[in-house]
Amino acid sequence: MAGLAVSGGGIAGMAVALAAARAGHEVTVFCGRTPPQLVGGLQLAPNGWAALTALGLAERAAASSLRLKDIMVRALDSGTTLIRLPLHEPYASFDRAALAGCLADALATQASVTVKPLNLDHIHQQGDTVRLVTDDGASAAFDGLVAADGAAGPGRRHVAPAGGQVASTGKIAMRAQVPLGSLPAGFARASSNLWLGRGVHVVHYPIGEMLNLVVTLPADRVGPGWQHRLMPAGSPLALLADDNIVWNRTPLPAAGTAGCWRRGAVVLAGEAAHSMPPHLAQGAGQGLQDAASLQYWLGRQEDVSTGFSGYARARAGEVAKIVRKADMSGRIMGLSGPAAYFRDIALNLGGTRLMQTWLAEVWAADPSLA
Ligand SMILES: Cc1cc2nc3c(=O)[nH]c(=O)nc-3n(C[C@H](O)[C@H](O)[C@H](O)COP(=O)(O)OP(=O)(O)OC[C@H]3O[C@@H](n4cnc5c(N)ncnc54)[C@H](O)[C@@H]3O)c2cc1C
Repeated sequence: MAGLAVSGGGIAGMAVALAAARAGHEVTVFCGRTPPQLVGGLQLAPNGWAALTALGLAERAAASSLRLKDIMVRALDSGTTLIRLPLHEPYASFDRAALAGCLADALATQASVTVKPLNLDHIHQQGDTVRLVTDDGASAAFDGLVAADGAAGPGRRHVAPAGGQVASTGKIAMRAQVPLGSLPAGFARASSNLWLGRGVHVVHYPIGEMLNLVVTLPADRVGPGWQHRLMPAGSPLALLADDNIVWNRTPLPAAGTAGCWRRGAVVLAGEAAHSMPPHLAQGAGQGLQDAASLQYWLGRQEDVSTGFSGYARARAGEVAKIVRKADMSGRIMGLSGPAAYFRDIALNLGGTRLMQTWLAEVWAADPSLA
């Protein structure tokens, strides 16, 4: 018997490996043969920071991120400010590679963690243990597996085969990073900016010397010159339609959780357990909370099986609420026609209070981290 195994080398995989090691387990990480794509930035809200604190990473992560002062919501066509939400709790932007670097550095200090750049091929349950076969043909038994190998990995197929493939929202995120030095000084302000248009929205915030930029729009509106139609000459973001900006296209997953989070000695974490469009900037933050919760449940139970079951029960309920809100937020952001017009009026009148209330539940950390 060789402790716990983790599959996946993304943010969730590294975080759960750290959590399991901090809870006193020997950990083998099968991080996959393909390094995770660490393109662009992400934002981490107060609940993500509570998880980083529980994992002993808050100080290191704070030094690698930019604390944001407020969230600005504006109308994309007119530039009118609809909401300014001051951020009193920790809320920061990261270069993805910097957050991954914090996790990798912390893992490297754990003598009980072994990282293997192998793909997990097969999962066999044997009573209270699990036998894993990797793509080099080797096989080994473990007390349990935390599968954080993404929405299409073997973990979800094994634990929740009925859930099938993660659906698409039909929306595309066009992502780019633009040197702040090439933009007016206002873009470097420590703010998270959301611009609401008609069926589209734009998010930008600074990460290091770059502006991280994400434009979300229906797939059928991404044709040649899409950025000029969306941000035409004279509109507030016209300079972001510059033809020199290189865009990456990412289809967005529909909101959903695995129907079941645990099967015997295997539990899911990160996107293997929950996928959500990034409208609330919560996907990675929820993966970190999975890890902190796992640390809590493994740390207070004698055996892995009881720890896994406490974790799966607690997280499945918590995350389902966030996933629903991410979906609803996307629908509100994606309104067009008269509905978008009335949305903007409502936000202009009472948006700050509405947004505070809406985000309070999202940003409340998992109760087990309190
Ligand atoms: C446009 C956009 C903006 C976003 N913004 C934010 C944000 O601001 N804040 C936020 O919190 N989240 C954000 N997210 C969400 C966030 O990026 C994801 O939730 C997060 O990266 C998922 O991490 P993960 O480790 O769970 O999954 P993944 O990153 O998918 O990692 C899974 C890993 O498993 C590995 N793997 C796959 N198969 C196997 C196998 N057979 N064996 C071993 N390993 C395997 C893969 O190689 C990969 O490394 C955003 C997402 C998008 C698309």
